[in-house]
Amino acid sequence: MTAFNAGLLTGWHLGDLLDCVEGVCYAVDRSYRLVATGSTRWDEFARSNGAKQLTSAAVLGTNIIDMVQDEDVRDIYRRHFHSVIATARPVALSSRCDSPGVKRELRLSMTPLHIAGLVYGILVQAVTVSETVRPPIDLFDAQKLAALFENESVLPIITLCSFCQRIKALHRAEWQEAEEYYRAGGTSKVRISHGLCGDCAVKHNYVDEIGQDDSAAIRGAASAGDNP
Ligand SMILES: [Zn+2]
Repeated sequence: MTAFNAGLLTGWHLGDLLDCVEGVCYAVDRSYRLVATGSTRWDEFARSNGAKQLTSAAVLGTNIIDMVQDEDVRDIYRRHFHSVIATARPVALSSRCDSPGVKRELRLSMTPLHIAGLVYGILVQAVTVSETVRPPIDLFDAQKLAALFENESVLPIITLCSFCQRIKALHRAEWQEAEEYYRAGGTSKVRISHGLCGDCAVKHNYVDEIGQDDSAAIRGAASAGDNP
């Protein structure tokens, strides 16, 4: 067997390494500040999400938790990060990151960066595990909704789960996939509030504080523009 020639990699930076692995990958320190990103895919991701100013170079040093817009999702990240640092054990979650015309499932892993049991930071990797092209869904197009209904002062509020992207219409008990919501007569003429569904709250051990009801969803700020 040929020995691995580590000398060829001497001088590589962590960011170079993160750029070579699958998905969007970044490292944070113990205070959750970004210390390195796989810049090529990070920049691509920022551009495709309409945030091209958030380049890798611009966000280094920023607290990654502060970049998450939804309060409940921020809390969940903070809890998982805390657990990775406290236990030196990795965490893996499934999540959704849909765009109007693509249903996208992600696997999000958080791995402790440790030396001799001391955790110095966390490696975060988001890998797309499936993509399904579909006719564009307006509910996932915040800009289009805002433009269409900017003059409407009163719109019914629906809640979009920030993790699984299912929807709960006003006065309905169940959370539905967007496709089911439209099939059941739901419309795009709504205001979207982001929150957390009961299933995701249970999955992320979030129920002990909010209960198994929809209080997190109800708490979500009503806004069509705060897409996570
Ligand atoms: Zn959910």
